Amino acid sequence: MLNSKEIILQSGLNPNKALGQNFLIDSAAIERIISLSQCSGMPVLEIGPGLGALTSELINHASKVIAIEIDGRMVELLSKNLAATNLNIIHADFMKYPLSELAHTFGDEQCIVVGNLPYYITSPICQRLMDSSLNVSRMVLMMQSEAADRFMAKPGDKNYVPISVIAQQLYNISIGLKLSPASYFPSPEVNSTVLLFERSSRSFPANFVRIVKAAFAMRRKTIYNNLLSLSDKHTTSKLLEKANISHEIRAEALSPEEFFALAIEYDEIIAK
Ligand code: SAM
Repeated sequence: MLNSKEIILQSGLNPNKALGQNFLIDSAAIERIISLSQCSGMPVLEIGPGLGALTSELINHASKVIAIEIDGRMVELLSKNLAATNLNIIHADFMKYPLSELAHTFGDEQCIVVGNLPYYITSPICQRLMDSSLNVSRMVLMMQSEAADRFMAKPGDKNYVPISVIAQQLYNISIGLKLSPASYFPSPEVNSTVLLFERSSRSFPANFVRIVKAAFAMRRKTIYNNLLSLSDKHTTSKLLEKANISHEIRAEALSPEEFFALAIEYDEIIAK
């Protein structure tokens, strides 16, 4: 199969910058991503297959590949160039596609998520995956290095934000690969990073995401003041005391484990 640059030049297709269309043309990177995904015999969800740089390899290893692409031109070219019985290309906006349907298709099976993500919705895509009922065991996601820094950030870092806490609670995250603009066509202006997300045995208490988002709402406020948006002064004080967390601390200083303790106490107090 031709690589994405050759397909673009031959077809005269004009990449859509607003959809984050920077296509991967680095065969060593493609090989590394497939190897990181450990997708042999597993069902795979690919987000934004584009012209098939990753898809064409995934179908050789995965039991099935469901690829969701927003751009009808890509869907048409991909369907023409890549016919495989284990490939289902869905023309849809990933942010609107009912993931419960995918969970149903995959059944009880664990699945792998792979994507060279459109940069403009990296965090919303990840948040959506983490909120979904999909049984994801592993994700290999390529993103701008700046976005990757947020997933990897530790308490106290300036990049430590709600998605850092939420992702680190569910996954053990590591850097799989770093890429320069030369690995893409057209070349973006920034470097990219491939992150490997390995599902941990940790989970969310019911109100975990709600607590994390409320705690970070106003970065300069203390956790006590931010959590007042969820309950009254007395309950908020009691909550922090029970979780052994100072009223004066800011959300950015708390580890995912401390947020976990806070959410457990919150669930208990609310349930009473
Ligand atoms: N996977 C291909 C590759 O590595 O060469 C393309 C990656 S490109 C960075 C991102 C792809 O995501 C594009 O094909 C773009 O059209 C698609 N995309 C953008 N927004 C999307 C959305 N909301 N839902 C599904 N696909 C989307």
